[in-house]
Amino acid sequence: MPYRIRNGLIDYLEIMQIAGVSELGAPVLSDCVSAEIVPVKTDGNPTEIIEQQNQTNEIPNKNIENIENIEINKNTENNINTENIENTKNIEQIPAEKTGEIAQDSLIAMSKSKIDLLQELSQKVAQCARCSELVLNRTQTVFGAGNPDTQLVFLGEAPGVDEDKRGQPFVGRAGVLLSDIITKGMKIRREDVYICNVLRCRPPGNRTPLPEEAEHCKPFLEQTLEIIKPKFICCLGAVAAQNLLQTTMPVGSMRGNVYYYKDIKVICTYHPAYLLRNPAIKKQTWEDIQLLMHEMGLTVNK
Ligand code: SF4
Repeated sequence: MPYRIRNGLIDYLEIMQIAGVSELGAPVLSDCVSAEIVPVKTDGNPTEIIEQQNQTNEIPNKNIENIENIEINKNTENNINTENIENTKNIEQIPAEKTGEIAQDSLIAMSKSKIDLLQELSQKVAQCARCSELVLNRTQTVFGAGNPDTQLVFLGEAPGVDEDKRGQPFVGRAGVLLSDIITKGMKIRREDVYICNVLRCRPPGNRTPLPEEAEHCKPFLEQTLEIIKPKFICCLGAVAAQNLLQTTMPVGSMRGNVYYYKDIKVICTYHPAYLLRNPAIKKQTWEDIQLLMHEMGLTVNK
């Protein structure tokens, strides 16, 4: 049966061989085998053969179109994602007091703003010379440390010798115990709370801060709390509790109750340094921490 395409291919090969393009032989001949199966009307013109070969490319082209469709589908999926993102944006636009959530962008912006404000305040503290005796004896001021977006602030008394050296609050033995209370007792990370003291300078010999020193430093504490806006404060020891709540009650009498500083809930317990000297009262401290956790809505593991 005379299949003209076969003849056409042979003619084409001959033409190409005459032209010195022998490398084309193998693939074209292999194409020839399949070309024999389907009779194709052609005059054997190489151009027509090439057109026929191109026609066989239509299927891959369709496949390509399908791939394009898949791509379009992918884009459709992306569109859904985009809608989701837009929906997320819509959620973010709902006031936080209605959703009970704070948009991530707002949180980051807020954090930066709080960090900047705390940085500015810490620079003022570093230059403060209101308490002449403390200024003469301090290595550096100890401003505070932690997460400015926290709900919980731990308030201590004043920097000790280790804190004075390192410029960070609660980094000595008492600080290790406080870390244990936070991480092992409360099951939260220390870096997720904020820790500061009533005084930002170490009293010589770790003596108790004088009332006038606490009064001098009070604006810095008030401004720190105003910037952070915590919902809970845990006072560590009598100096913290009495200065924050403006009372003369001993801390032992203040335990077990919830007090308020402005609209912030305040729990009072013993100072970790006092616990180191009196390990027997760790049990009472744990009760105070459990009360704090209960107020914060945290699960208490007894
Ligand atoms: S304790 Fe406070 S008020 Fe006194 S010098 Fe230090 S930073 Fe200033």
